[in-house]
Amino acid sequence: MQLMNLTENLLVLYRVERQVRGLRTRLVSAERYLNAQIKQIDELNAQIKEAQNRKLQLNATVANLEVQGKSVDERTEKLREELNSAQTNKQYTAILTELNTVKLERGQFDDRMIEDLEQVDRITEQIAELNAQVAERKKVQKVAQAKLDERQEEVGDRLAELETEREAAAADIPGTDLQIFEELADNYDGEAMAEVGEVSKKHREYACGACNLQMPFENFSQLMSGTESLIRCGACTRILYLQEEMRGSYAKK
Ligand SMILES: [Zn+2]
Repeated sequence: MQLMNLTENLLVLYRVERQVRGLRTRLVSAERYLNAQIKQIDELNAQIKEAQNRKLQLNATVANLEVQGKSVDERTEKLREELNSAQTNKQYTAILTELNTVKLERGQFDDRMIEDLEQVDRITEQIAELNAQVAERKKVQKVAQAKLDERQEEVGDRLAELETEREAAAADIPGTDLQIFEELADNYDGEAMAEVGEVSKKHREYACGACNLQMPFENFSQLMSGTESLIRCGACTRILYLQEEMRGSYAKK
């Protein structure tokens, strides 16, 4: 087996790392979609609960108004009897005035009851609408769950394989270098390394392929000679490497 230098070992790790992350992303996006459905269902259920509470309160108010209305009715009945047995004109007028006031009060109770009952109807419709939305959302949730299961199945084995490969690749890299690689991979979503780009061969100008910062020629030479130190971009700090082609074409000269 041909021995590889640090950069070559890192490249092996880098390629596996990107595949692992690519597969994970597929899983994560399916998971996120499923969780979004669950969250929406929870929110809808909270709205339903709130509407049900309001409905209960309104029904209690209506029941209360009914009781009050009944006592007004009793009072009305009593006043009518009194009116019939009124002895004087003055008495009669006084009872009649009170009767009219009580009738007015009864009317107000009725109006409030009608308003509240109308609101109860609206809330009942609202609850039905929300329940329909929950039912619809649950269908989507089921599809999302199936999609996630499917992805887990198709990606799971490959992911396990790649994770084993990654462990093997990481074992070839010294601890401090590996730590730097892993931090960069986390910061750049797997893009821990960047290939060196040729700006001008004539002027010996080379740059980081990710952020285009020009690199010192000395670093380029180090990479050409297969250095055992990390060569990193001065700006984005990614680990730099040379494409096979570039190394080949220079080596031939
Ligand atoms: Zn850079």
